[in-house]
Amino acid sequence: MPQKILVVEDNPQSMRLVQMVLQPHGYVVLGAGDGEEALRLVESDKPDLVIMDVHLPGIDGLEVTRRLRRVTAFRDIPIVAMTAYAMKGDEETVLAAGCNAYLSKPINTRELPGLVARMLQKHGKGDA
Ligand code: MN
Repeated sequence: MPQKILVVEDNPQSMRLVQMVLQPHGYVVLGAGDGEEALRLVESDKPDLVIMDVHLPGIDGLEVTRRLRRVTAFRDIPIVAMTAYAMKGDEETVLAAGCNAYLSKPINTRELPGLVARMLQKHGKGDA
């Protein structure tokens, strides 16, 4: 069964970019445009990994992450945060909220697939 990745991103161009980078690697890539939709999709589709934009309208990506971590079933889903505001201290904030890794935008499209594959493997979801 192909692995499912949920991309949470309110910017349609960034969403398309991440989807285009990941789809050729055989993942099923789902998209959510805001935090509420992200929470619904994690519940209904149980993705193997989440790529989470931090800055979202309404509930932001860090709060979505905190809420997911309170649910036993979602405590261990790998979550990779993305933020355009790469500032000192960002990474700590993101990890403290429960994310496992951090990417600054613009996303490095050559590194993203490798990071995703490594995180899936680390969490026992790799193909090998
Ligand atoms: Mn955003």
